[in-house]
Amino acid sequence: MPSLDLDTDPLYEIATRSLVRPSDALFWDDRLFTTHGAILHWCELGDDILEESNYRTALDRIRAAADSGRPDAEVSDAHVIDASARHFAFGSLRTIYVQVREDADPCKTCAEGQEADAYWVFTFKSGREVVFCDGCRDEFDELGLSYEPRIPAYTAAFTEAAEILTALAGYPVLDESDYSEREWNAYQETLTEAVEHAQKDYWDDSDQEAQEIAERYLNDYSAMHRTEWIRAEDVNWAVVAKEYAGHRDSYFTELANAHLNAPIAGQPIAA
Ligand SMILES: [Zn+2]
Repeated sequence: MPSLDLDTDPLYEIATRSLVRPSDALFWDDRLFTTHGAILHWCELGDDILEESNYRTALDRIRAAADSGRPDAEVSDAHVIDASARHFAFGSLRTIYVQVREDADPCKTCAEGQEADAYWVFTFKSGREVVFCDGCRDEFDELGLSYEPRIPAYTAAFTEAAEILTALAGYPVLDESDYSEREWNAYQETLTEAVEHAQKDYWDDSDQEAQEIAERYLNDYSAMHRTEWIRAEDVNWAVVAKEYAGHRDSYFTELANAHLNAPIAGQPIAA
C-alpha cells in the first residue's frame, strides 16, 4: 500500500472503517471488504421501522448517485451490493456494500494487475502519465525515474454513502416523510389485525355486518385509535375488543329498532 498523507481526507476514515472485515460472519463474495466496504445494516426480520426506512432510503440514494450522469451503464449494479446474509445473532442481516474507489486502469507496462491500492504513476514533462503496477516498479527504478503512488478516486456511490453516514451521525432519520409513512402503515396494519381478532368472538355475524361495524369503529373519532394511539406498539388489543363490542351493540340495537319501526307489508302506514 503506497503511503499517502491522507489525514486531510475526510472520506479516508469512513473508507477505512467500512473495509474492516468482521470476524464473525462468512462471506461468499471476494469483493466484500476488499473493494467494497460495508455501509449500513438492517435486521430484516426485526420490526425496527426507522432502521428499514433509513436502509431503503440510503440504498435508493446511493444507487442514484452511482448512476447519475452515466446514461450508458447501470454502474450501481457493480458499485452497490444489497446483500442478505444469515447471521448468528440477527437472523437475517441486510447490508449495503459500496465500491470505495474507481477501478484502476490495467498496468500500462505489463497490462496486468487489478489491485487498486498498488499503482504508481510516472509523469512526463509534457504532463502525460504512465500508470504501472507494483511488479513493474523495477523497470522505472533501473531508469532512475521517480514516480508517485496513484490511488483511484472515490466512487460517486461511496461519496454519497459517506455523506449519508455523516448525516446519520448527526440526526437518526434520513427521510422524515418515508419514515412517518412506514410508521403509519404499520400502525394501520396492527389496528386492522386487532379488529380482526376482536371479530373472532362474533363468528355468526355476517361478513357485511362485521364490515359495517368495523367501519363505524374505525371512523369513531372518540375511540382510542383516534385520540391516543399513533404507532403500532400503542395498539392495545383488549381496548380494541372492548370498543368494537360497544359499536357492535349499538349497531344491532339500531338494526332492531329500524326493523320494529318498519311498516308491515299489507298494512296502511299510520298517519
Ligand atoms: Zn505491471
